[in-house]
Amino acid sequence: TKHFPVRRTGRDLVVGRRRTVHAVDDVSLHLRRSTVTALVGESGSGKSTVARLLAQLYPLTGGEIRLGGQAVKAGRGRSFRSYVRQVQLIFQDPFASLNPVHTVRYHLTRALRIHGREATGTELTELLERVQLTPAAQYLDKFPHELSGGQRQRVAIARALGADPKVLLADEPVSMLDVSIRLGVLNLLRDLKERLHLAILYITHDIASARYFADTTLVMYAGRIVEGGDSETVTQRPAHPYTQLLIASAPDPDRVVAEAEQEEAGSGEPPSLIAPPAGCRFHPRCPKAMERCRTELPPRFELADGQWAACWLYADGAETTDNAGDHEK
Ligand code: SF4
Ligand code: MG
Repeated sequence: TKHFPVRRTGRDLVVGRRRTVHAVDDVSLHLRRSTVTALVGESGSGKSTVARLLAQLYPLTGGEIRLGGQAVKAGRGRSFRSYVRQVQLIFQDPFASLNPVHTVRYHLTRALRIHGREATGTELTELLERVQLTPAAQYLDKFPHELSGGQRQRVAIARALGADPKVLLADEPVSMLDVSIRLGVLNLLRDLKERLHLAILYITHDIASARYFADTTLVMYAGRIVEGGDSETVTQRPAHPYTQLLIASAPDPDRVVAEAEQEEAGSGEPPSLIAPPAGCRFHPRCPKAMERCRTELPPRFELADGQWAACWLYADGAETTDNAGDHEK
């Protein structure tokens, strides 16, 4: 099972301020070594919640997480500490995640020591070389504000690597960076995936970048994963009407957000996760909704080539990827 380092299944409840928010439901995912898995969805879909649950920042109130085949129990035991070391989270805003009063050297030294590793000059240099900040001496004594956004995100990644992780959870890691440097950071992550055999969960609202960067793509809507498969298939022949909407409104990567937001304004907000619609949660917005969609929750239907969709259109196998050319415009 070493190729399937993280798995969680079942239902989750996340405690909000006053009430319990049913944030993600029946989410099950497998992250594999040397593989980038994209989790795509609009804001409020619950995709960041999945990352925080996997990072153990939120308590899991149902289901389980496995790492390398072993179930992980929250708490303070050795297996929990080992899990927290091996599964590292990278945030959207590197400026907020680095302490402004401390240098790069401090951040990296601390990361190494927390995880019981030596923080010699060689180790620090190696971490910075891994994220292509060279020569290292030029960066070690800089403060966060002396670095560009891309450099700060690279330092945040180096700090995560200081834990010698198996899994990186990257929550919109480039969405706050200039468009011109996004590709460089994504390429760096892809390079690390290969060289360090990392399993990477890439959380994004940008399905075009998933196609470019991820091996596998999962699409999330209103707290549930509604489609999955290899990135090429999901983005070229989307099966779920919601994925089709995302693709149709994303003709080029830079327009994804603006277009998707306009679409939402025109055709209704994404549903509340506190009281989601009955049946298929997408039915109020779905152009192909049928009677049963209003009352019955669609299970996953397997299509060809490992693609699947939770949508009643595929219930009788009538509309499979053989016919999916219909979706290509
Ligand atoms: Fe649309 Fe029905 Fe499929 Fe949901 S199950 S996406 S409402 S066709
Ligand atoms: Mg988010």
